[in-house]
Amino acid sequence: MDGSGNSLASGPDATKRKVCYFYDSEVGNYYYGQGHPMKPHRIRMTHALLAHYGLLQHMQVYKPNPARERDLCRFHADDYVSFLRSITPETQQDQIRALKRFNVGEDCPVFDGLYSFCQTYAGGSVGGAVKLNHGHDIAVNWAGGLHHAKKCEASGFCYVNDIVLAILELLKKHERVLYVDIDIHHGDGVEEAFYTTDRVMTVSFHKFGDYFPGTGDVRDIGYGKGKYYSLNVPLDDGIDDESYHSLFKPIMGKVMEVFRPGAVVLQCGADSLSGDRLGCFNLSIKGHAECVRYMRSFNVPILLLGGGGYTIRNVARCWCYETGVALGIEVDDKMPVHEYYEYFGPDYTLHVAPSNMENKNSRQMLEDIRSKLLDNLSRLRHAPSVPFQERPPDTEFPEPDEDQDDPDERNDPDSYMDMDDMRHLDEIPRKFVSNNIQSVKIKRENFENELNDQDALRVASDLVKGAEPMAEDLPLLKASEKASMAVDLEPTNMKMELENQFVPALMYSKP
Ligand SMILES: [Zn+2]
Repeated sequence: MDGSGNSLASGPDATKRKVCYFYDSEVGNYYYGQGHPMKPHRIRMTHALLAHYGLLQHMQVYKPNPARERDLCRFHADDYVSFLRSITPETQQDQIRALKRFNVGEDCPVFDGLYSFCQTYAGGSVGGAVKLNHGHDIAVNWAGGLHHAKKCEASGFCYVNDIVLAILELLKKHERVLYVDIDIHHGDGVEEAFYTTDRVMTVSFHKFGDYFPGTGDVRDIGYGKGKYYSLNVPLDDGIDDESYHSLFKPIMGKVMEVFRPGAVVLQCGADSLSGDRLGCFNLSIKGHAECVRYMRSFNVPILLLGGGGYTIRNVARCWCYETGVALGIEVDDKMPVHEYYEYFGPDYTLHVAPSNMENKNSRQMLEDIRSKLLDNLSRLRHAPSVPFQERPPDTEFPEPDEDQDDPDERNDPDSYMDMDDMRHLDEIPRKFVSNNIQSVKIKRENFENELNDQDALRVASDLVKGAEPMAEDLPLLKASEKASMAVDLEPTNMKMELENQFVPALMYSKP
């Protein structure tokens, strides 16, 4: 790994970036319950490392404004958000049907402060997006990145999808936003939310095959106007740094070239590290962080988010090192003494050696995946572009709000969100869209019913919140109406339903 950047970068890679960092000192106190692998304490451990390595002084540090109910409802269903707001460990026995309906219970338990936890991690991600819209180069929210949450249901330890909310905020300023996901699990919630639009490209690198959440086949490429704007990179056990980057760099280099995003959201789930409690990859921290370094080298505003990561000492190591990468500071391997020092014995170093586990990703497999994905990307010769029109308002100073007990708690008025809805996605003329997507036969028979331009335009209008599905025009979509996924984005529901895959519980995917 040479660590070199890309020629698209407008300046030397060593150039300092303006970095802001979101952290709430309460976040480490939320507790999913005994034996649950998701431990918000890892965010506090990361923060302690940043403090003792002296990295905080190089960033603007913000306490996130809690996302309000109406902020969360820009993506999530009103009744789901009301449920999250009202459910408590004491009252949940009376809510058995609702728990089942919203998939809350086992993987995604009810715990004390659940709703404020959601407000905190979502507030950090949206606040970071607001900062990027106002001139910061990099924003960091290690509490965010909960990529499995769906419009109307919790999934895989995730309740609200802060990533979707942050991308919606970025779309107020940027015509195109790129989402990259290096968590070991497929970034299904984010992919689903943007499956039918060409304004967001989603790229997920993940373990595929008998593994949660079961989606993320290389043949899943987006739908309608979003066709070729979803990329999936299915990987097998034991992938090491070299194999990973033999895919990551050529694919992401090509994505940056053809899609030309105005902003990038990078989900840095650390369960893809070697030795993760739930994972089965073999990446070193440097290999993982190389993804951050590489994406940073393009000099496009980046939102860095957390995600999975269940061997918490390694999660803290990884996100600390990656904060250093964001800042352009190489962090010393020798760890400073601090309040969680005992977690890092016996070596007390930042880096840990990967294991000698077998790499089940053969050269041939990797080559096949790479050429398949590069071929898909070659269908997008020109990034969609339209003249910028009226831009929705993005920042206002906060008014006292029903969600906010103490307005003085807001220490960063700039990160207040003006949340209307997804309407702005459609305020830009979309006539250019299908011209540059060539019709290509793909294997999935269900996707062979391509939408013509006219229909594609009409599907896009479904992004408007509350719009009726065009079931009479698009009979394929009809079958999906009962699906409980991203109901603003009907075609995605169809995809999920047709796949009809068994979805094992994340918690039990590996002991
Ligand atoms: Zn994960």
